[in-house]
Amino acid sequence: MSEPTPFNDLKTAKRIVVKVGSALLVGPDGAAHGVWLADFAADVARVRARGQQVVIVSSGAVALGRRRLGLGKRALTLPEKQASAAAGQSALMRAWEEALEPHGIACAQVLLTRDDTEVRRRWLNARATVETLLGLGVIPVVNENDTVVTEEIRVGDNDRLSARVAQLVGAEALVLLSDVEGLYTADPRRDPAATLVARVARLTPEIEAMAGGANAAAGMGTGGMATKLEAARIASHAGCATIITLGARPGPLAAVEAGAAATVIEPGATPSAAYKAWIAGSLAPAGFLTVDAGAAAAVRRGNSLLAAGVTAVDGRFDKGDAVVIRDEAGLEIARGLIRYVAEHARQICGLKSGAIEPALGYTSGPMVHADDLALAAHAESA
Ligand code: GLU
Repeated sequence: MSEPTPFNDLKTAKRIVVKVGSALLVGPDGAAHGVWLADFAADVARVRARGQQVVIVSSGAVALGRRRLGLGKRALTLPEKQASAAAGQSALMRAWEEALEPHGIACAQVLLTRDDTEVRRRWLNARATVETLLGLGVIPVVNENDTVVTEEIRVGDNDRLSARVAQLVGAEALVLLSDVEGLYTADPRRDPAATLVARVARLTPEIEAMAGGANAAAGMGTGGMATKLEAARIASHAGCATIITLGARPGPLAAVEAGAAATVIEPGATPSAAYKAWIAGSLAPAGFLTVDAGAAAAVRRGNSLLAAGVTAVDGRFDKGDAVVIRDEAGLEIARGLIRYVAEHARQICGLKSGAIEPALGYTSGPMVHADDLALAAHAESA
């Protein structure tokens, strides 16, 4: 893995994921907070005008839905929460559409479950959809698919969901807009010596201890400071910096750029290095692809593996599973995520790219895309 890169600036991240909590988005009357949304939309439009891509992870479905359903402020049962989410999600999207439209920005609803970020095939599908939206200049507005998930299989809070989304899209920055300025060394309401931790290079047990006690109550939504640091840990492993800051100020992103109080947790690597380390290290291979000398050389140079260069396919695997790529001598040269199910990979093995669609009735492009390939350590140094 490459050396940790110090986080430069919100101005330089190509992709930014911003998490907006219910407390910001839903006003005291239980309706969408139009004034805050309009201000934030202008802030997002400004960032996008510099050529940066933005993904919004937005809570608020349950809060908006409970009002629609007349459930008041009482504690909700899980089915009532799910019903509220179902009723509120459309109100939430309407609020985002109304806020972004004056800037000529379209948005799209993306509802994810934990499986979508954990099961590789679904992960690849979710990633392809979000990538397509970003490519079209649309802002994906992500929330958990609360109506179908049960307690055991939920992500549960949008702090963690937003970190997984940051990983999904290879974002360089994750901004958690919160009702606190960041992480404090102690409870600022009780300890006059408490100071804001401006930068965290690494999430140590000492830092994590700060999230207990003093900061535990921070955040009115589902997640307190501990879930924010948990999100930061996921993001950091994915090569993404996390910025915890106050969301209620005007232009919260502009404010951070101008040096407003915030806690920045630095990433452990670049998103692409982290992704490749994940492919190389954490996935048990489900199959083997043997490739000819030309394809082996192409893969070593960092190119995609085309079906034409594959001479044998072994194993049972699904689309999105990890496979080992080896040369004709059996030496492992790389690992990657395959784009075809085993049966189809066998059918197209040796075929030129143009012959894949006639053979299968569809094409998913190369057998393994360069972005999803991690070279074996010895192959990289060769
Ligand atoms: N998904 C929930 C909602 O939209 C919120 C979860 C959270 O705030 O962390 O209401």
